[in-house]
Amino acid sequence: MKLFCPKCGSEKGPFINHLCKSCYSEENELAVVPRKMLLPKCKRCGLILVKRHWVEESNEKIKVFLADNIRKFYVDDCSLEAKLEKDFIGYKGKVCISGKAFGKNVDKTYELEIRYEQKQCDQCKKKASSYYEAEIQIRADKETTEKIIYFIESLNEIEKRDIVKKIKNKRGADIFVISNRSAKKIAKAIERSFKTCFKASSTLRGINKNGKEQLRHTYLVRTANK
Ligand SMILES: [Zn+2]
Ligand SMILES: [Zn+2]
Repeated sequence: MKLFCPKCGSEKGPFINHLCKSCYSEENELAVVPRKMLLPKCKRCGLILVKRHWVEESNEKIKVFLADNIRKFYVDDCSLEAKLEKDFIGYKGKVCISGKAFGKNVDKTYELEIRYEQKQCDQCKKKASSYYEAEIQIRADKETTEKIIYFIESLNEIEKRDIVKKIKNKRGADIFVISNRSAKKIAKAIERSFKTCFKASSTLRGINKNGKEQLRHTYLVRTANK
């Protein structure tokens, strides 16, 4: 038995749901665009979760989020154009999908809505539980300590976001940092800018489920007059 398209009679395959490609693309959706999408957003720092990463919200990232949530069938050289209005609960607007389906140019516009889903990013979760991997101990006079703290405030976002708390004391200040990587970067930056040097040490804090040692790192930054 010979297969043929019930709509146009064409015998040229392949067939999708019994229809030839050209009839299929006329009758069926080429993409599935959910009318409402949920976008996880951290209620503390405002980062959004796109493709399993917490990132700064931007038009570019929203586009990546859309592309990740739209299922495209049979569309090649696909491009996605979004016209969205942002408000405090999310985005609303249209997205146009264009490309080639079975050799024909297609473009179709879909209405959609992106709603923020209140979440807490990993970083903020750790902060809330006051988890930290490292401590920077600044040992300096009051004036220099103030200068160093001011300097830390001017560092880039990523490292600054990792700081859990800063406690000033008689000998200087203690800075608690979520990730050891950021702590080391901060200590190095202080070393460079204040022409001092730091001493690194670590103590065993425990052993995790996988049997890996959990260390707490300490960076001691001492200025010349201390
Ligand atoms: Zn057909
Ligand atoms: Zn956050």
